[in-house]
Amino acid sequence: MQGPPAGWASEQAAPEFPADELSSATQLLQELLRINTSNPPGNEQEATELVARHCRSIGLKPEVVGSHAARPNLAVRWAADPANQTERPLVLSCHLDVVPANPDRWIHPPFSGHHDGECIWGRGAIDMKGFAAMGLAALTRLVKENPPINRDVIFVAVCDEEAGTRHGSEWLVNERPDLLGDNPEYVINEVGGFTIHQNGRRYYSVQIAEKGVAWLRLTVKGQPGHSSLPLQNNAIVSLAKAIDAIGSTKLPWHPSREAADYIQGFTKPQGGIAHKLSPILLHPFWGPRLLRYAVASPAKRATVEGVLRNTANPTGLTGSPAINVIPGSASVEIDGRLAPGQTAASLIEELTSIIRPVLGDNFEFTILQESPPVTFSADTPLYQEMVKSLQSADPDGHVMPSIIPGFTDSRNYAKLGATCYGFYPLQLPEDIDFATLFHGDNERIPEAGFHWGIRTLTDMLRRFLVTG
Ligand SMILES: [Zn+2]
Repeated sequence: MQGPPAGWASEQAAPEFPADELSSATQLLQELLRINTSNPPGNEQEATELVARHCRSIGLKPEVVGSHAARPNLAVRWAADPANQTERPLVLSCHLDVVPANPDRWIHPPFSGHHDGECIWGRGAIDMKGFAAMGLAALTRLVKENPPINRDVIFVAVCDEEAGTRHGSEWLVNERPDLLGDNPEYVINEVGGFTIHQNGRRYYSVQIAEKGVAWLRLTVKGQPGHSSLPLQNNAIVSLAKAIDAIGSTKLPWHPSREAADYIQGFTKPQGGIAHKLSPILLHPFWGPRLLRYAVASPAKRATVEGVLRNTANPTGLTGSPAINVIPGSASVEIDGRLAPGQTAASLIEELTSIIRPVLGDNFEFTILQESPPVTFSADTPLYQEMVKSLQSADPDGHVMPSIIPGFTDSRNYAKLGATCYGFYPLQLPEDIDFATLFHGDNERIPEAGFHWGIRTLTDMLRRFLVTG
């Protein structure tokens, strides 16, 4: 299907684009989806080589580098004429690894690249081989047009995003920042620019912030012994009480400017009561109490809570190595995520106040990994062009800055001083929900919406890069 999905006003589509290049982009996406890059272990080489071949076919010279051969990263530069180059580079970044998929739960096999006439199916269609193919299509078009541009454009396809970025963007930033232009001004990356349908309106968010990460271990001590005897102070039992307390207590609200802009981006176009209620929803005392009345859908409530709270989800458990031994200690790993302005220490304080009434002082926290929340300014020329391109592609859509609960490669690029945005324009019909497909079963991308994204991204890059 080449046109927009049913119900969409086709005259609102983004600028024209050669039809053969759009179908080549679909084919490239299908080929990428047929390569299984599930991480772990990743095995991104074949996909990286496919991207490298495409870059060479349009006359660019990709470099493939990495911590070892099985974990390659690709960077390729479309250089500005030195006479026009006045600005620091712009990076378009994607990752080629995907999260694993269980084929038993899929309608079409997850590594088939199946095209059902409307959607292209496969693990990574949304997250984020779709953007790899989209970015390459935009780059291909612009390289062919060869306009004067004010800065270098660097396209990057990294590995290992889904397992924490160590061999991918983290390695690239630490070992080969030259391939990212050393200090790029901007990075365009995933999680933003897709259609969000709510109350009959269409919204598009440009991601400007990511929550931080605080991976913790909670250890509880007890009296070790033989488990045939009735012992009192069993560490496993104490740990279970602590986990129950964490699981049944909501952490405090931390209203931030980022959260306010995001939530009010939804309520402002609605006007009336919804918009008047939004400051109350952000209020540390009233917000948590009002939430269930203000936001009916549990999924949408989770999004609101996700940006306003720290979260702490117990995941991995460690106890006794043997069934007949009561261990002297037991521990649980906790995936903590930090709202803007929060730290691992402040999350530990919040958790301590929950656990202390249950266990006294018989516990300790260890920080396994901490990465602070990152926020970028929405007051930049690039942000403005993103808004303009989305508005011209969908004049009835509403664009607002957003914050996401997870992390992306942007947290590494931020270390180079880059302003990073999630901008992966994608026109989604109402029955396709981005959040459900992201890491979900039956991941797929509507071809029309994918082509709309290619046109919108190309339009945005033209506006932003071309001089004179
Ligand atoms: Zn991703």
